[in-house]
Amino acid sequence: DFEKLCLPDILRERAAENPGSRALLYQGYVMNYEKLQKEIERFSLFLRNSGVRKGQAVALLLPNCIPFVVSYYAVLRIGGIVVMNNPLYTDRELEYQLNDSEACALITLDLFGNRGIQLRRRTGIRSIVIASLGDYLPLPKKLLFHIFARRKKLSAPVDRAKDLVYWKKCLRRSAAAPTGELSNLEDVAVYAYTGGTTGIPKGVELTHANLSLQVQQCAAWFPQFKRGREIMMGALPYFHAFGMTTAMNLSLYKGWCQILVPRPKAEHLLEAIRTYRPSFAPLVPAMLAGMLKHPDLRKTDMSCLKGAFSGGAPLSGSLLRDFEEKTGVRIVEGYGMTETSPVTLINPFDGESRRKPGSVGIPISDTRCRIVDSETGGTDVPLGKRGELIVAGPQIMKGYKGRPEETAGMLRDGWCYTGDIAVMDDDGYVFLVDRKRDLIISGGYNIYPAEIEEVLNSHPKVSESCAVGIPDELKGEKVKVFVVLGERESATAEELLDYCRTQLAAYKCPALVEFRRELPKSIVGKPLRRELRDSGAKQDGKRNF
Ligand code: ATP
Ligand code: MG
Repeated sequence: DFEKLCLPDILRERAAENPGSRALLYQGYVMNYEKLQKEIERFSLFLRNSGVRKGQAVALLLPNCIPFVVSYYAVLRIGGIVVMNNPLYTDRELEYQLNDSEACALITLDLFGNRGIQLRRRTGIRSIVIASLGDYLPLPKKLLFHIFARRKKLSAPVDRAKDLVYWKKCLRRSAAAPTGELSNLEDVAVYAYTGGTTGIPKGVELTHANLSLQVQQCAAWFPQFKRGREIMMGALPYFHAFGMTTAMNLSLYKGWCQILVPRPKAEHLLEAIRTYRPSFAPLVPAMLAGMLKHPDLRKTDMSCLKGAFSGGAPLSGSLLRDFEEKTGVRIVEGYGMTETSPVTLINPFDGESRRKPGSVGIPISDTRCRIVDSETGGTDVPLGKRGELIVAGPQIMKGYKGRPEETAGMLRDGWCYTGDIAVMDDDGYVFLVDRKRDLIISGGYNIYPAEIEEVLNSHPKVSESCAVGIPDELKGEKVKVFVVLGERESATAEELLDYCRTQLAAYKCPALVEFRRELPKSIVGKPLRRELRDSGAKQDGKRNF
């Protein structure tokens, strides 16, 4: 009984039902549903007038801010395709995504404006729209912002260039319904790039049906959260599928108010909780850990939060317990990937007894999952045995843009092969073990990096660790670990190795230890194994045991 409507049509209904209710909160600026709808209509008209047609891609290079929400919905409304980009990416990474997506226009902030102009020379970008963080601020704050910005060069002057328009100017048009073709449910709506943890980010084609049904699946999971009542913490980056769906789209679907947090550092998250009192927060484990460590935690009353959702990366049992004990906020863990819009598995939210800490849960509404032996043609493995997790449901992507072979490898007989190794228990709960591609095969043994990391992380001096396989002449691969010690701790490689030997079989013990001050991380806080593996292989030799 899901609504067969595209997201912009659902939003139009919400705006008609409750025009005056708050939709977006940004640094003290409040935008209601009526105004949001009007800006979306105006901006979509602008896009059409500047030549964007159905099926054409428009790139966003924006943090969480009002222009992100407006332009995302405006592009979808006229049948365009939104290309989501991480503003922290380097020019080389962005150039790749802009070329790969064949984006024709770019919407960005003045802060990044000159980068946009540079990028235009090397990509198919025709027009650029420049927004400013100061565009939406309440009046006194706006004045302060401009004084501050001039001093700090925050509001960077953008070189004059042709086809460059300022955001506010685009909206100075009468709002009329665009005359072009509108989108159908089966059309591609978004190119969402994967996290790039295991390789080059791939452009995932998500359709209007994927986005709309996924948001309704998520809404159905939390029936106790009523329409129009809650305040959503928009802290996850919206340019990633996780934030896009579970924060931005879910909040608008439910007619809630969302807090846009452009920089998700612990102090900003805690400040947003104190100021705006959100009732629901989708987060990643790195954010939970960051808040837990921050001194401001003590002065932050979290009783407003009726629930938090964690996903995207493993949530350790100790972090879950510590966070819940210290804050009283209840966390449910879920699982997803960009290719599945992203949510497929999640723990029940209603009552302690049905939740299983350490598990990523059971399939969300309308979704199925199995654990199979993918080497031998996808037969189910017995309960309790390791295998590849495969999922099916209306949220599975159409494919990877321009990569038919990789799409065929991923989508087989209606199932999406996640590449994640998992175990299912007798009650159907899924426990993730590791990624297939991260598996270290040494002397014929399968070694799961997560197991080694769990042991190392339990050492009192270790703050975090990452285990990778690097080439070895004899064994094919050997284990190398990257270790970050806790503040003011010191330890020797031998000491850690001795500790591992007491808890792990000899073949799983690391051959090399490298200490780092921090680990390179993806936006959702996952260590970039590929980067570590490459650097690990290069520096092999010195600290060998
Ligand atoms: P790439 O596909 O480019 O290598 P990526 O897989 O990290 O990058 P995402 O789509 O952002 O990109 O992440 C999906 C992956 O995140 C899943 O395949 C899974 O390995 C991991 N993941 C998601 N949720 C959880 C969770 N709750 N616990 C552990 N891992 C998770
Ligand atoms: Mg992936």
